[in-house]
Amino acid sequence: MRKIAILGSTGSIGTQTLDIVREQGDLQVTAMAAGRNIDLFEQQIREFMPRNVAVWDEKDALELKSRVADLGIRVHAGMEGLIEIAADPDSEILVTAIVGMMGLRPTFAAIQSGKNIALANKETLVTAGHLIMPMAKEYDVSILPVDSEHSAIFQSLNGESVNKIDKILLTASGGPFRGKTREELEHVTLEDALRHPNWSMGQKITIDSSTLVNKGLEVMEAKWLFGVEPEQIQVVVQPQSVIHSMVQFEDGSIIAQLGTPDMRLPIQYALYYPRRRPLSGSRIDFSTLGQLTFEAPDMKTFRGLALAYDAMRIGGNVPTIYNAANEAAVALFLQKKISYLQITEIIEDCMQSCKKLEAPGLEEILATEQEVRERVESRW
Ligand code: NAD
Ligand code: MG
Repeated sequence: MRKIAILGSTGSIGTQTLDIVREQGDLQVTAMAAGRNIDLFEQQIREFMPRNVAVWDEKDALELKSRVADLGIRVHAGMEGLIEIAADPDSEILVTAIVGMMGLRPTFAAIQSGKNIALANKETLVTAGHLIMPMAKEYDVSILPVDSEHSAIFQSLNGESVNKIDKILLTASGGPFRGKTREELEHVTLEDALRHPNWSMGQKITIDSSTLVNKGLEVMEAKWLFGVEPEQIQVVVQPQSVIHSMVQFEDGSIIAQLGTPDMRLPIQYALYYPRRRPLSGSRIDFSTLGQLTFEAPDMKTFRGLALAYDAMRIGGNVPTIYNAANEAAVALFLQKKISYLQITEIIEDCMQSCKKLEAPGLEEILATEQEVRERVESRW
């Protein structure tokens, strides 16, 4: 039995992780944490029987505790609860499937407790990659990518450790607004932005995919995971989402990973690495696929991607400013308090105005997040 803990078990990645646990039969969930959906969380607890669980809110934790009193399990709350789950003494690997910088402290705690990380929570690596990657080395733990593009790159690098990467070709679907002009984007509604052509995901990442901020975060994620320079990462729009990313080597060879768009594949690959396991679901049929098409991303219309490259080149706490501004802006967009194009305007404003730091530690990263949040909340 491989023992896993999950942060965010009720979300898109979390529930698909549990689908794999159900299908494979040799994974044991020892601990899990969730946000607000305690009805679903209770069902999951009864099905998977972890010994250690956490929910964010104190009141929800008390309610849950009384509901699962018959099981004799530990119920925690708040950030302390997330850290308890992340560092659960029985687990070997932590699936980080919560959204946003909320994942920072728990991810640090898991690494310091020697857990391998199946990393979906890209915001942690974007904001603290300079701390996380050396820490993972120090504690001899693996950071296994769950993001489909990064899993594709990771798979393309198998057996290539003696070779230098020339370039990473990070694919993008282009999102629901590919081909649109800025004028057309002015009137985009929340409902339009939540309709992704190829993937069904949580709300925040769905909005990020439509603005190409998600791709921007992924470019920064790739820099840390694969130790490459900003100019070695090129975004390629591949609207069918069949090629999940590629690596070009010095001799011009390009190795890619392909598959139907199904997040269970990269999640399962991270959980069993280096082994592959059977996985149910459809397969690519090249006779009906017809064609794969490619284009360059439109960084003028989708400023979010251009700003991510700027943030990555400047480094320090600027990726944190970029990410925190986006988190705050997307939260406002989800509440219909700002317009669609204001999301990237807010990111740009914060990148220009917030205090820059060269090599921020964890506390400084969290202080930057706070500064950004206060700025956004007071102005918009
Ligand atoms: P989601 O919104 O569907 O799920 C988030 C989960 O985190 C839920 O279980 C929620 O209850 C929990 N959560 C939220 N706030 C919490 C809190 N304060 N305390 C405890 N739990 C809390 O999100 P998702 O789409 O599954 O994405 C999760 C992460 O994975 C994100 O960082 C995203 O960028 C990344 N990711 C997702 C996909 C995808 O297909 N969904 C693909 C690649 C990467
Ligand atoms: Mg992705």
